Amino acid sequence: MHYFNLRDNRLFAEEVEVEKIVEKYGTPIYIYSSRTLKRHFHAFDSAFYSIPHITCFSVKCNSNLHVLKTLKEEGAGSDIVSGGELFKALKAGIDPKKIVFSGVGKQDHEIREALYADILMFNVESMQELEKINQIAISLNKKARISFRINPDVDPKTHPYISTGLKQNKFGIDINDAIYAYRTAKELKGIEPVGIDCHIGSQLTEISPFLEALDKLKYLYTELKELGINIQYLDLGGGLGITYKEEEPPHPKEFGEALSKSLAGYPLTLILEPGRVIAGNAGILVTKVIYTKNTSEKNFLIVDAGMNDLIRPSFYGSYHRIAEVKPSGRPIKKYDVVGPICESGDFLAKDRELPEVFAGEILCIFSTGAYGFVMSSQYNSRPRAAEVMVQGDEFFLIRQRETYRDLVYLEENV
Ligand SMILES: *Cc1c(COP(=O)(O)O)cnc(C)c1O
Repeated sequence: MHYFNLRDNRLFAEEVEVEKIVEKYGTPIYIYSSRTLKRHFHAFDSAFYSIPHITCFSVKCNSNLHVLKTLKEEGAGSDIVSGGELFKALKAGIDPKKIVFSGVGKQDHEIREALYADILMFNVESMQELEKINQIAISLNKKARISFRINPDVDPKTHPYISTGLKQNKFGIDINDAIYAYRTAKELKGIEPVGIDCHIGSQLTEISPFLEALDKLKYLYTELKELGINIQYLDLGGGLGITYKEEEPPHPKEFGEALSKSLAGYPLTLILEPGRVIAGNAGILVTKVIYTKNTSEKNFLIVDAGMNDLIRPSFYGSYHRIAEVKPSGRPIKKYDVVGPICESGDFLAKDRELPEVFAGEILCIFSTGAYGFVMSSQYNSRPRAAEVMVQGDEFFLIRQRETYRDLVYLEENV
């Protein structure tokens, strides 16, 4: 459910007509619905009401400060994967006691920054990283709370680029090495093992892989307890999928009930790291048709948003629904919707059926609130798009459109 709907044959974001936002701020533009973000956060968070839990929004899927602030107001913590994300999460006012730090390549300065901020825990992904965190913690006279990110070897049945919990993936430590890892960690002066973590992938549309992973973590928890290692947090990562086209992911309520039931009676706080399921359908990308072009093979719609603005179709072959902001009712044609970038891989949709569209008209690309703007670049020296937040009948800029100055500023001032 989201709040981008047609009203009197016009696309609205909450109470604001999308075309009005375009008139003021131009295209391409990302538009987020504050009400949708909050609704999704609550639907997810409240699904775990019966057990102790912390919902740590995955900052990497949408790191706009205003998005983070909106979720923080609702009680969200953060799952971060870099020092930059820590910086943004703290700037948004997120409570450090609700921040967990994942990622295979944490650097010294990032570890130091997280220790200074006194975050809840590091999700450690290798023994070298453990040693590094230990040294830095000792040098700062601190103790780092850690969990190991366990690779449970569970198939999430999703796109290979976003599968992370299989043996061949770079993430986490092998579950068979976990006992050794915790025993080692327990002996280190700068380390306090407090959690067990995993994150098996993204855009999962079934609950069973999560339950399978959870069973493995629960078993490990019991083994560790027998060794005198007392774990308090169980972090199951993110990964719950959304509907882009015809996927039917479980409702967060169903997901929450299944996990809560599996954990009932365990004296553990569950940590969740949802990203896409909160932000994905809370954002749209709006673009203008620059030209139409028909060849013997194809009808092209050349739009002003390219793969530098939204890379998911090019990168993962992802489907995003596309619709007119003012449905015309014209006869259906088949189009390739492509951007202005000089790459054949620069497309937003292929062989897509749309009512006939003319140059100058405005299209909306749905489900782009997660892994949209954050993955954008200036490729082809294109200034990045603007971002707008809608709140009821109000809307405001939450990131200015980049200008030509932004293309050269860091190169001229060296
Ligand atoms: C990307 C990521 C998430 C969020 O995944 P979603 O599929 O967006 O929910 C959570 N945790 C970690 C460690 C991640 O890398």
